This record gives sequence, C-alpha cells and structure tokens, in this order.
Amino acid sequence: MTSAKHKLGIIFFPAYDWAIDATHPEREERLLYTQDQLKEEGVFDLPGIKEFKPEIVDRQTIELTHFCFPDVAAVTTESHLIAAGGAVKAARLVMDGEVERAFALVRPPGHHAMKVVHGNRGFCNINNEAIMIEFIREHYGQRKIAIVDTDCHHGDGTQDIYWHDPHTLFISLHQDGRTLYPGSGFVRECGGPNASGKTVNIPLPPQTGDEGFIKVIDEVVLPILEDFQPDLIVNSAGQDNHYTDPITNMCFSARGYARLNEKLGPHLAVLEGGYSIQGALPYVNLGIVLAMAGIDYSHVREPDYDPERLRQSRKITDYIDNLCREVMAQYRRPPRSSLADGEFDHRQKSIYYDTDGIAEDQVEKVMVCRQCAGLRLIETRALSSQPSLGIEIPLGACSRCREAGLKILRESKNAMRYRQIKLINRVDREYLSFSEAEMSPRSKYFF
Ligand SMILES: [Zn+2]
Ligand SMILES: [Zn+2]
Repeated sequence: MTSAKHKLGIIFFPAYDWAIDATHPEREERLLYTQDQLKEEGVFDLPGIKEFKPEIVDRQTIELTHFCFPDVAAVTTESHLIAAGGAVKAARLVMDGEVERAFALVRPPGHHAMKVVHGNRGFCNINNEAIMIEFIREHYGQRKIAIVDTDCHHGDGTQDIYWHDPHTLFISLHQDGRTLYPGSGFVRECGGPNASGKTVNIPLPPQTGDEGFIKVIDEVVLPILEDFQPDLIVNSAGQDNHYTDPITNMCFSARGYARLNEKLGPHLAVLEGGYSIQGALPYVNLGIVLAMAGIDYSHVREPDYDPERLRQSRKITDYIDNLCREVMAQYRRPPRSSLADGEFDHRQKSIYYDTDGIAEDQVEKVMVCRQCAGLRLIETRALSSQPSLGIEIPLGACSRCREAGLKILRESKNAMRYRQIKLINRVDREYLSFSEAEMSPRSKYFF
C-alpha cells in the first residue's frame, strides 16, 4: 500500500448546519461530495494520513488578529469558531511535530475578512489563516510566514491584515479584479511603508489554464519564496479557479491544483472558496491531499476533463509572460515611502459588507518605523456616525510605538469621542475593549 512521504493531518469541518441561505453558493453541502470522495479513495486508510477533530477558538485567540465591532460574539457563529479552530488545530499539529503538514478542510471561509470586522463580506466573517498564524506567533514565537492565496478571488482580507507586517509575505494569485469580486489585487498594491514589497498581487486574465498557473508558480512565486526564506508556508487553498466553478471564469484543473501544491510544498493549507461542489471540489481536494502527502496524484481526473478544450490561448500566455516580468520587477524594487521615521502614513478605505449590507468608512494610520511593524490606529464608522477606534501595538513593537499606542489609548478615553475603543497590545498581551459608558467622566476619575 502507498504510504505518505510527508505525514499529513486532515482536519475536516464541513459545517453541515451553516449556510448564508439555502440557494447561496456557500451552503451546507459544499463539502459533502469531498467527504465521500476521500472516503471512497480510502485516503484515511493510507499510512501517514490521519484525520483530526477541529478545536473551537476562543474570543481571546480571535482578538489577537481582529478588531470585532461591537464584539466577537456579535459577528461570529459557532461554525466560524470551529472553522478557525480547524486551522488552529492544523497549526498545533505541525508546530508540535505530530505531523509534517496539515490541511484544514473547513468552512465557512475567511480570506475576505479584514482587520476590522463589522459583519460578513464575500462569505467571510473572520480570517481563518490570519487567526491561525497569530496563534502560532503567540504560542510558539515570532515566525517568518509566507501565505500563498490560490483562491480565484483576491484575498483582500488577508492583504489588509498583513499590509504593514514585514514578517509576513502575502502572495495572491487571482482572476483580475476588473472582472471579478472584490475588484482589488492589482500589481501596484504591494504593502505599506513598513512592509513595502511584502504584498505581491498577480491578477490573472479570465480563462487562464494549467499552463498559466504553473508558469506563475515557477517564475514568480517560487523565486520570491526563495528570496523571503519563510519558516512556514501557508496555502489559502481556494478551489474556485476550477473550470467548472459557477461564479468565476478560469480553466484550472484538479491535477493542475495538485501540481501547484506539490511545487509550493505548504506546511499548512486552509480551504477557502470553491463552489462547483460536485464537479470540482471532490477532485481538487483529493489532488491537494495526495500532493501534500507526497503521494502520486496522476490518476486524479474529473469525469469531463478535456485538456484540448482547456488549453489557454496564445494571447493569454503572452499576457501572463508580461505580468510575471512586471511583478518581479516591482518585487525587486518596491516603492519607498517619502515619510520620515515616526511620521504617520494614512489610508482611507470604504468597505462594503455585501452579505450584511453594512457600509464602513475607515481611516487607518500607521507609524512609519524602522524598528518594528509600526503602531496601527484604525478609526472606523459603520451603522453610526460616531466612530470607534482600534489601536494595535504589534508583536515585537519597539518602545516608541508601544508608548505612543498607550498614550493614544489614555487620551482617546478622555476625549469621549468614540463609541468604542479596542486595544490589541501584543507586547504586554493586553486586549481591552471600552464602550462609551466605560469612558464616562466617572470612570475617567479612576483612570
Ligand atoms: Zn473565492
Ligand atoms: Zn516601532
């Protein structure tokens, strides 16, 4: 019997009782056929592959990553806590050396969830990969981590969370934002002043096939990973680039996905999108599982697979050649901020939570810092004209950024301007939340 070359853990959480609504693509039976396929193939009987149960993440673990307004309970269901818990379990298995690699086959997905969460956007509430990564850093120490997002949609939530973090390389391959939700992820989006070049976007043209994806992996992703030298590689494994996916326009195959995964060699993979639940997911997931375990996947094939029909045009190949050159040129010479050390960089964002119909306006400020990821302040308005404030003192913050953050917390509490104030202080491991009532002049007296 074939055995795994790389010991692999699979965490399966199909959330059979969670859906946005009955006809929505992100619905209960999304992983049903995958489960059948893996069982039919006898994947769990192969020596070296083992299934594990997910854990449930607690509020504190989510608050390492997100500012949730009004609070974690209001923007999550139990299914979200278990999906993120599946990713955390995967991380724990790999970090403790119980397995070499792990694949969290969980839903609901997470890669559109940004730093601030007011509700659901792009089927996502909380960011499973980011919660997993910050769990690793909190419990096992700082690590250089590369995330390669191979979902068809731009991983705008993960990009937003890591925009300023020089220790996290975020690479997203996706269908060009001019033709698909969420409409972002262009080459020029390459990270904030403290992490310029650490965000890499590769917007691919519709109808990109196996050849185009593999070229991008060989000519862009692998050379950048080689240069960054991460301790861990995480794959946000969205499967909606598949040629049968009902909400996208790509021509990628299950075997193509397996090959991509083999080349990437991720320690951790977390399922993202993929809505062709019968035609694609069972085959793509099987291909990824076999590739991660280092087992031959050449027999994995969709019943209607026709390589001739899926061959990408010459025009697309030429376009991708140019795109690879453009992305590499920018990675080698990322733009430099004109701001001096200690000055604040500003970003203004309008964010729409398409599922919940919430419009958010944000002003984000980050202290330009040569020594750390920089103090991050986010003023957010949603469902109210009164703003709330998030203050993040990042992991490994320098004393200037830490002190500036604590001073802003004191002053903001006294200013009585905010509906809520939240603090993520990774240096002192302090996670605080103040509502308006707690910022009254009476409590100010005790402060
Ligand atoms: Zn997607
Ligand atoms: Zn600093």
